[in-house]
Amino acid sequence: EVIIVSIYSEEQILQMKEDDFSYHLHPTSSIPDMEAWGGPRIISEGEGVRVKSVEGKTYIDCGAGLWLNNVGTGRKEIVEAASKQMEKLHYFQSFNGYTHPLAIEVAKKFAKMVPVENARIFFTSGGSESNDSAYKLARLYFNLTGRPEKNQIICRTKAYHGVAYGATSATSLPGFWDGFRPLVPGFHHTDHPHCYFCAWGKEEGSCDYECAKAVEEKILEIGPEKVAGFSAEPVIGTGGAIVPPNGYYPRVREICNKYDVLLIADEVICGFGRTGKNFGIENWGVKPDLMMLAKGITSGYIPMGAVALTGKIYEPIKKHGIFMHGYTYTGHPVACAAALANLEIVEKENLVENARIKGEILRQKVRALDLPCIGEVRGIGMINGVQLVKNRETREKFAPSVGFAKRVSFLGWENGLILRPLIDDALQLSPSLIISETEIDELVEKLETSIKQAWEEYLANDEK
Ligand code: PMP
Repeated sequence: EVIIVSIYSEEQILQMKEDDFSYHLHPTSSIPDMEAWGGPRIISEGEGVRVKSVEGKTYIDCGAGLWLNNVGTGRKEIVEAASKQMEKLHYFQSFNGYTHPLAIEVAKKFAKMVPVENARIFFTSGGSESNDSAYKLARLYFNLTGRPEKNQIICRTKAYHGVAYGATSATSLPGFWDGFRPLVPGFHHTDHPHCYFCAWGKEEGSCDYECAKAVEEKILEIGPEKVAGFSAEPVIGTGGAIVPPNGYYPRVREICNKYDVLLIADEVICGFGRTGKNFGIENWGVKPDLMMLAKGITSGYIPMGAVALTGKIYEPIKKHGIFMHGYTYTGHPVACAAALANLEIVEKENLVENARIKGEILRQKVRALDLPCIGEVRGIGMINGVQLVKNRETREKFAPSVGFAKRVSFLGWENGLILRPLIDDALQLSPSLIISETEIDELVEKLETSIKQAWEEYLANDEK
């Protein structure tokens, strides 16, 4: 029996919903859906892996916010570190030759952690800024080394890199370009690897890594003398929690070396433990030239992002004398304090290892569910996707008009889960890295109920 206690009155809740309709523009939220729900879902509190709505109902947050709340909600250590720093020096610039002790400490920590050679760290306020900064660094590098025509960036289908203009242009998911053209020139897309729905019709084990070859083909199509970088999420997040086959990144690294193309790893979701390694690309022993970071740096306690660049990219900038790029909040002292406190928790509580172990347990438990519409349960560490399909044998997808994963997510909300439908009817399962096995059991039970309800509804209505 769940006891529901709200600290808000019904009138207050209604007023908030009305005010939200009147004054608030939400990012990537369906306005008709919010209207159909009778207002937005208002979350006001949280603890651990759970959050609570203003109505007083608790939910397991299967997304850890937007893939970021690695240490869970309510961590006093981070609150204290941030508040102490806020009292001491809430802000100072990193422009014009200034810095502060914590920015130096965080830069050193990250530089020693990342699998980037002779790394240097540039700070941003989030993932989109990290992406734009990385593309600018890639272009700058070839400009400063006498090859200004080497400025094209290759990305992939199903990529999400954020919504700044460069990041938008690098992204390739439905809807993100509509109405926003012209995009930034010089971004190209090639197919991403996904063995379950292999774009080349191959089977892992007997294939020739056509997915990696596609990167080479794209470089040759554009002309290697024009390509600055290949940018990819080590594990695709928003595009469906898609893990590449093991041989992909080692091959891609070789291809990038062959054509002097920078390998740019968008570790915004993967970075700082979510995949069961400190960084996603480390799962395949590959070293990128540029790495974008955000989310897990602070678990979302306060916004912060970063770019790690190799010494090779830094050297010509040093020679040139100045990097004409930066954000007001670059190296924000409070964010740096939160980052250090957050990463200390990750280390002390072995959360990277926990992500690996609990992720495997979570996938096993979902795989054990006897539901014919679960096609693939994929993932690595705590980036997981449940692929819902109309026909498990043929891997046939639902018609988009069915909105099956969206329906499951809606029922999830009724059943006490914050669930997110990714495109092509995949569900995102990426809870906080602190999740316990008991909490996993509860999550899976509620997930089963929600999928079962949606499937039975589908059989009763849509299939006729
Ligand atoms: N890159 C990736 C891989 C992401 O998942 C995201 C955010 N979901 C971004 C970039 C953009 O980050 P932000 O929303 O902080 O700008």
